[in-house]
Parts: sequence; C-alpha cells; structure tokens
Amino acid sequence: MANGKSSTGLITRMRSFFATDLAMDLGTANTLIYARGKGIVVNEPSVVAIDNKTKRVVRVGTEAKVMYGKTPHDIITIRPLKDGVIADFDAAKIMISTLIAKAKLSSFILKPTIIIGVPSGITQVEKKAVIESAVETGMGKVYLVEEPMAAAIGTNMPIHESRANLIVDIGGGTTEVAIISMFATAYSESIRVAGDELDDSIVKYIRRSHGLDIGVFEAERVKILIGSAFATDARLEAEVAGRDIASGLPRRLLVNDTMIREAMAEPVKAIVDSVHRAMSGVSAEMAADITSRGVVLAGGGALIRNLNKRIQHDMGLPVHRSRDPLTAIVRGVGRVLEDFDVFHRVVIN
Ligand code: ADP
Ligand code: MG
Repeated sequence: MANGKSSTGLITRMRSFFATDLAMDLGTANTLIYARGKGIVVNEPSVVAIDNKTKRVVRVGTEAKVMYGKTPHDIITIRPLKDGVIADFDAAKIMISTLIAKAKLSSFILKPTIIIGVPSGITQVEKKAVIESAVETGMGKVYLVEEPMAAAIGTNMPIHESRANLIVDIGGGTTEVAIISMFATAYSESIRVAGDELDDSIVKYIRRSHGLDIGVFEAERVKILIGSAFATDARLEAEVAGRDIASGLPRRLLVNDTMIREAMAEPVKAIVDSVHRAMSGVSAEMAADITSRGVVLAGGGALIRNLNKRIQHDMGLPVHRSRDPLTAIVRGVGRVLEDFDVFHRVVIN
C-alpha cells in the first residue's frame, strides 16, 4: 500500500498543478464539494431559481433558497434533484457547473477527476445522467460511489473488515440503509421517506389540527428547533407563522415537542422500520456483529432529536451518530479521492 502511494504520488502532484480533482455529495437537499488537498470548499442547498419567462437560471444554491416563496411570479425556485436522483436535467447541469466553478479549480488544462456520491440502487439511466452532467461541466474521469458507502467511509467505519457495518443515511429525499463488509455492500434499501417527508407531515398536521397553513421551510425550521423521535427530557416550544385557513389572515401558533413528535410519527416509524428490515434480512452472524457494534446514523436526518434513543428503544441496538452527519458523505467521497489506491474498489461504474 505504501508503495502504491509513492508511485502515484508524483503523478498526483503533477495533476494537482494543472487541475483540482474533486469529490461531490450531490444531495436532494444539499450539495457539497471537496477539493483534493483543501477539504470542503462548497456547501450549499441544492436549489436553483429560474426566470419563468426566459427559462434561464438566475440564482444557484444559498442565493436561490432565500428567494423561495418570496420571489416575484416570474421567478420560480426548484430543486433539480428528487428522491436522490436528477429530476430536472438542465437545471441540475447549471447547478453542478456553477457550484464546481465556486470550488475554484486552479485550471482546466487537464480535465479534473471527480468522485460523486449517488444513491444505492441508482438505475443505469440515472447513472448516465449524473456522469453526463459532470462531463459536460468539464470533468474528465467520473467515478460513482454509493452514498451509504461514502457515509461509512466518512465516519471511519471499519468497512475493510469482514464484520458487518450498518449505516443509515437520512437525507432530504431518501433514507438509505446499508450493511457493508469488506468494501462491499451486502444489503441495501432506499426508501423515499426522509427529511422532506417529515416537513410535509408537519405542514399537514398543523393544517389538519389547527387550521393553519404553513410553508415547508417553516415546517423544517420547527422540525430542527423542537422536532424529536422519542420523548425529550424537557418540554420544548416554538412559534410557527402561517395563514389561517378560515380567515385567510396571518396567524401565529405556539407548538410543543409532543405535537411535533405526533406530526412526525408516521415517517419516523417508516425510517425505524427500514432499519428493522435490514436486521431481519441478514444472516445471524451479521446480525450479531451489528448487535455488538451498533448502528451508525448519518445525513441531516441523523440530527433528529432522540432518533438514536428511538432506535435503541424499539430494536435494542446501540446507536451512534456520525460526527457532523451533514458532511459525512462528502468527507467519505473525499477520502476515496485522497486514498484512491485503497478505496478504488468501492467505485461502482
Ligand atoms: P441530502 O443528502 O438529501 O442533500 P442532507 O444529508 O443534506 O440531505 O440532509 C438534509 C435534511 O436534513 C433536510 O431534510 C434537513 O431538514 C434535515 N436536517 C438538517 N439539520 C437537522 C436537524 N438539526 N434536525 C433535524 N433535521 C435536520
Ligand atoms: Mg445525502
């Protein structure tokens, strides 16, 4: 391994003089870019604002997200990714190229290599779309790595060992559960229930039980502020603002952790159930490994208050949270880039 490193070292140094190789977590909610030797250089919401008349993209990332719901009629904000894959190809390409430009490549003399995290179970057509959009952005070699694998690597799980590692990546659009051993995925499942679904459930709950219409970003705000998957020690409260359905006028409402937990109950259960299915789908030996090592949570959804307690309580498994779960995936693909001679075997294309 040491030999492999020194022989590729010179080439890597020469390459980095002409081009900056990148690793990207192209998420439904957030896109992050890691540059070789530099670390994370871009971390922005996966949102673009489009001029409805000219169909041109006018803002990308953070600048586009702040325009959501506050824009004039001729500007619409969209998310080019849905359920973890590219839904709007043109918008995605512009978003990817704008964010890569922000990563400030030293030069385009050599086409840089890029490693991209993609959902496990991605179809051939979807793979092609991701690769095409990177190539059209000026990338040379494009390598794809499954997101749960990247999350496990970014969390320093011992994926090279023959013991089973269970990782749960809860993003905006999808929750991915994977069991990884010896650089390979032994089991994986992707469900379309994650952060967005929690936000939608809160919107529906407030509308149904309090006759108040709130926006999804307002719902996300209260989810982050007081949302939980298991009873909290202290009572938490927050105020939400919206429009009264009956009168059409603005109104504020005080909500607490019990209400929001009830609102989120169904999607939280779906997430816990997916971990349950993973455990019942593997061999007794693997289940024993996982029972002793525990489950690791990554992705923004890992930050849901007491989700660890909930899984612990319902399944009797120890649960750990990836340090800084929102960056686990990009740090993982970054590691694949930096240590390619070790991690090339997790590339799926
Ligand atoms: P993706 O990979 O789909 O881009 P991320 O891993 O970036 O998703 O996670 C985004 C999701 O995490 C969003 O639904 C967001 O609301 C949620 N999230 C971020 N921070 C928190 C938090 N503190 N508590 C609960 N959910 C959170
Ligand atoms: Mg993700």
